[in-house]
Amino acid sequence: MSARIIDGKSIAAALRAAVRPEVERLAALGRRPGLAVILVGDDAASRVYVRNKVRACEETGLRWELHEFPASVDDDTLLARLAALDRDERVHGVLVQLPLPPHIDAQRVLGAVSATKDVDGFHVASLGALLAGRPGFVPCTPAGILHMLERERVPLAGQRAVVVGRSNIVGKPMALLLLQKDATVTICHSKSVDLAAITREADVLVAAVGRPRLITAEMVKPGACVIDVGTNRLADGKLCGDVDFDRVKEIAGWITPVPGGVGPMTIAMLVSNTVRAALQSDRSA
Ligand code: NDP
Repeated sequence: MSARIIDGKSIAAALRAAVRPEVERLAALGRRPGLAVILVGDDAASRVYVRNKVRACEETGLRWELHEFPASVDDDTLLARLAALDRDERVHGVLVQLPLPPHIDAQRVLGAVSATKDVDGFHVASLGALLAGRPGFVPCTPAGILHMLERERVPLAGQRAVVVGRSNIVGKPMALLLLQKDATVTICHSKSVDLAAITREADVLVAAVGRPRLITAEMVKPGACVIDVGTNRLADGKLCGDVDFDRVKEIAGWITPVPGGVGPMTIAMLVSNTVRAALQSDRSA
């Protein structure tokens, strides 16, 4: 039997539609939610991501501003701009598009976004809050995946979940969210031995690696829910996930496509987090 294809595009559209009334309510009060995006250098993929984020803001009625810097910019210039954005009451969320050029201290720059405006959830305070089960912004990709899993009513409590990838922005926060939902969670990485034996145990398998079609049908338990975070650009220019979609969909219970799965959810969560930041600043005003 073929897997149910999880339509990230339509779940993302529903999420954006759900926050729109709040956006209009705040706008009527003169507090339209606003997102500031910092973009450094000329990375083509980063430009595409930023364009998609800005478009989602427009579709949902958010105000946005783009702050562009050349790749040669120094830490202090970025930090000065972040401090100004932190003081700007019209800006509720601040996003620093990654990757930053190697000479920039990315942790220092990300740390300069205050926790109340950290709509990407990359600040160590946000990640610490997630670890401790305290309120805070959760990184958009894992938050979007959890939203998808819940919308699809994929069982999580007591289930075996395997996350392949241990980055601070996807793998680790994803594992924490699944743990919060009472899954039994394993995290795999490049040094994991016999990856296939571990992934075959998974009722929920999240692949966040960046290796085209690493996850083959032989690595998937029949009926499992397979979430593909990977966004790999092939030589022919096409996008490809970390999962061998055509074969895995024949045995999985649920599967996300690339494109049209996790990507749109990440952006919808960014919009949702920005609206939340505006609501929280509204309450504290
Ligand atoms: P990172 O490069 O930061 O992390 C990749 C992880 O994969 C690392 O933990 C690495 O292990 C692990 N890994 C590498 N090779 C293997 C292997 N052969 N077997 C098992 N594990 C392996 O990537 P990100 O987490 O930032 O992103 C992962 C993918 O998701 C990328 O394709 C990225 O483009 C995509 N992405 C998509 C988003 C979306 O919205 N759709 C958002 C963010 C990312 P180790 O730690 O040992 O090096």
